[in-house]
Amino acid sequence: MTQPALDFVIAALEKIRETNDHLPRASTTVLARLQCVSPLAVSLRGTPEPREGGPETSGFPKGRQLQPAAHGKAELLAPIRERVRTCTKCAHLACSRTQTVFGVGNPDADLMFIGEAPGVDEDKQGEPFVGRAGQLLTKILKAMNFAREDVYIANILKCRPDTVPGTFGNRVPTPKEMQTCRPYLVEQIEIIQPKVIVALGAVAVEGLLGMRGTMRELRGRWHAYNGIPLMITYHPAYLLRNQAPSEKRKVWEDMLQVLERLDQPISERQRNYFL
Ligand code: SF4
Repeated sequence: MTQPALDFVIAALEKIRETNDHLPRASTTVLARLQCVSPLAVSLRGTPEPREGGPETSGFPKGRQLQPAAHGKAELLAPIRERVRTCTKCAHLACSRTQTVFGVGNPDADLMFIGEAPGVDEDKQGEPFVGRAGQLLTKILKAMNFAREDVYIANILKCRPDTVPGTFGNRVPTPKEMQTCRPYLVEQIEIIQPKVIVALGAVAVEGLLGMRGTMRELRGRWHAYNGIPLMITYHPAYLLRNQAPSEKRKVWEDMLQVLERLDQPISERQRNYFL
């Protein structure tokens, strides 16, 4: 397959993914050919589950999608970052933003954090979680023995939700805005393929899983996104508003579960934080 033809196929598949609830499917023969010709060096993880349509047909069941070779993840993210940078799907946000905020961290990370949207600081700096809530997230990471560079951090929305001029604070993204921007995050997750995802706050959960609920119901237990274990915990901004040690402990207990899931060693001191 020539490069222009390959580009055409990839563009068509991306279009299907952005506009359809179902992920694109391809036959095992096509996958084998793509493996031979694609510079993306894709490979399949696991054995495809049998699907309707005969033995030749291989769907991409959740959690078993095309896997990029680890060394190529940064390269695979680059064109998505570029599409985001020039995105105008939400015309009102494209006008009001200073810049888009794609994501930051290690493309090979085992752990990925997902928040809701850039705030004023993130919009200015072009990086997620750099304001006060972000600094608290960095502290939580440090307590987990991680640096920001060890994990990957992104938001559902890549543009700051606009606010009325002269008003203070950030606005919660609308369901429509999240639905419009979500395909970019889906692509990021598909490339990074973290072992664990942490969703920060109920808005991130709604944007990612389309599921509404109170944090009391959602947090502290395992969910899944496309077969990837997903922990839901409070957004750090909540901890800034509510500084009770009991709330900090709840978040920390969620992070202890994450560390256990990642087979990370946990010291006695770590276990006893905020007790
Ligand atoms: S929020 Fe997302 S979809 Fe909307 S304009 Fe920004 S990058 Fe594009």
